[in-house]
Amino acid sequence: MAKLNPHRVPMSRQKPQERRRNFDEVALGYSPSEAIAEATRCIQCPKPQCVPGCPAGIDIPGFMLAIKEEDPGRAVRVLKDRNNLPGVCGRVCPQETQCEIRCVVGKKGAPIAIGALERYAADWELAHGLMNAQVAPPTGKGVAVVGSGPAGLTAAADLARLGHRVSLYEALHLPGGVLVYGIPQFRLPKEIVAAEVDYIRSLGVEVRTDWVVGRTVTVDEVLSSGADALFVATGAGLPMFLGAPGENLVGIFSANEFLTRINLMKAYLFPEYDTPVVRGQKVVVVGGGNVAMDAARSALRLGGEVTLVYRRSEAEMPARCEEMEHAREEGIAFCTLSNPIRFIGDDSGCLTAVECQEMELGEPDESGRRRPLLREGHTFTLEVDTVVIALGTTSNPLLPSATPGLATSKRGTVDADEVGKTSKLWVWAAGDVVSGAATVISAIGQAKRAAKDIDEFLKTV
Ligand code: FAD
Ligand code: SF4
Repeated sequence: MAKLNPHRVPMSRQKPQERRRNFDEVALGYSPSEAIAEATRCIQCPKPQCVPGCPAGIDIPGFMLAIKEEDPGRAVRVLKDRNNLPGVCGRVCPQETQCEIRCVVGKKGAPIAIGALERYAADWELAHGLMNAQVAPPTGKGVAVVGSGPAGLTAAADLARLGHRVSLYEALHLPGGVLVYGIPQFRLPKEIVAAEVDYIRSLGVEVRTDWVVGRTVTVDEVLSSGADALFVATGAGLPMFLGAPGENLVGIFSANEFLTRINLMKAYLFPEYDTPVVRGQKVVVVGGGNVAMDAARSALRLGGEVTLVYRRSEAEMPARCEEMEHAREEGIAFCTLSNPIRFIGDDSGCLTAVECQEMELGEPDESGRRRPLLREGHTFTLEVDTVVIALGTTSNPLLPSATPGLATSKRGTVDADEVGKTSKLWVWAAGDVVSGAATVISAIGQAKRAAKDIDEFLKTV
C-alpha cells in the first residue's frame, strides 16, 4: 500500500480584510498542479470507505485517479455518472461530515480534499466547454418535475438521460432553488449554477419558469396533460419566526427575504438592478445555522456591523465549522447564550433596539444538544436598525394544500417512502419538502432513488 501523506494541499482564499466588503467568491480553487498533488494523496483503497459516505454514490477513487493522471475530462465523466451538479456540490456540500470523515487518510492526518477536487474537475469542464452526456433513445414516456432545486434538477437529469421526456416547472423566474435564491454569490457563484442548469437542459429537459404548480396549474392538470408521472421537489422555503413582541417592526426580515433580495435579485448592485435592500448599520442576525452565517456575512458585505445572536453556545451551532471560522475572520461578533425576547421601535414603527435574555445550558434535549435555559433576571439590550431572523424553515405548503390525495405530516412535510412514493398515484416527492430543511446532497440522494423508482414504474405503463 502507498505511504500516507497526512498533509492536505491548502486552497487559496481571498483575505478576510478584502473579502468582507465584496461579494466575490471566497475560496479560489486549486491550480492544476495543486489538484494533482492533492489527488495523488488518495491511496486508491480497494474498498473505499469514502464512497458509502456520499449519498450520490460517486466513484471517488475513480475521479481522483483521473485527476492524478492529468485527465480532468475523465474525472468529470466519472463525477457526472452519479452527480449532475459537481460544481455546486464541490463548493457547498458538508464533505467533512460525509465522504471526507470516512477517508482512511484522515486517520493519520487531514482526509483527502474530496470536495475541493470535485470543484476542480467541474471548473475545468466549465473552462473547456460542457461535455456531452449519453442520453438513451426516447421511451415515449413523460415526467413532470415540480421545483428546480437540487432535488428537481437531479431527478430531471437522471430521467432525461434514461430517455424520458421531462418538463421542469419552477415558480421563480430562474431555476436553481436555494442554490440561486439562498446561498450567496461569495460561496456559490450563480454562473456555476447556471452552467449546471444548462447542462441539464442539454440533456433535453424543458425548463418552464414562472409556473406555480398548485396556482398556475394543478398537479392533476399536469398529470392529465401528457405526464405519466410527477415528481414534487418544492423544498422547504417557509420561514419560521420567534413570535416575540415587536417582530413586525420595520427593519426586521426573514433570512429568506433578505437573502432572496441579495442573491436572486442582486440587490447589492442596486440601482443597477431593480430590487433594493436595507443596508443596516447595526445588524443582528438571530440563529446559528448555515443560513444565519450566510445572512450575517451578506449584511457585513453591505456595510453593516454585524452581531450573531444564538441561544446555545458555539459548540451547539449547527453551521459548518468552516462557515463559522470565515464569519469570525471577517469580523462578525458572536453573542451566544442569548435569545431575543422583545423588539423595540420608535414612533414611526422602525426598529431601534432588541432586548435579549441571557441563557445557560441544561441537560441534552431530544436533538442531543444541551437545552438552553433562561437565566432569570438577566437581560440586556442591543441598539440595532436591522434584524434578520434565521431560525429555520418548513416545507412550502402551497402545492400539498392544493393537491387532493397528497398526504402530509403534522410538520407539513409531504409523506413519501424511501423511494419517494407518495400517497397519491403517479406522484413521487423528495428533497426538503419531504425531509424538512436538510442539505443539497441529501436532496440529491433522495431524488436519485425516486428517479430510479419512477423509471421502473414507467416501464410498466
Ligand atoms: P429547494 O432548493 O428549496 O428548491 C425548491 C424549488 O421549488 C424552489 O426553486 C422553489 O421556488 C420551487 N417551488 C416551490 N413551490 C413551487 C410550486 N408550487 N411550483 C413550482 N415550483 C415551486 N445545504 C448544503 O448542503 N450546504 C450549504 O452550504 C447550504 N447552505 C444553505 C444556505 C441557505 C441560505 C439555505 C436556505 C439553505 C442551505 N442549504 C445548504 C440547504 C440546501 O440548500 C437545501 O437542503 C436544498 O436546496 C434542498 O433542495 P430541494 O431541491 O429539496 O429544494
Ligand atoms: Fe482515497 Fe480516502 Fe477514498 Fe481511500 S477513503 S479511496 S484514500 S478518498
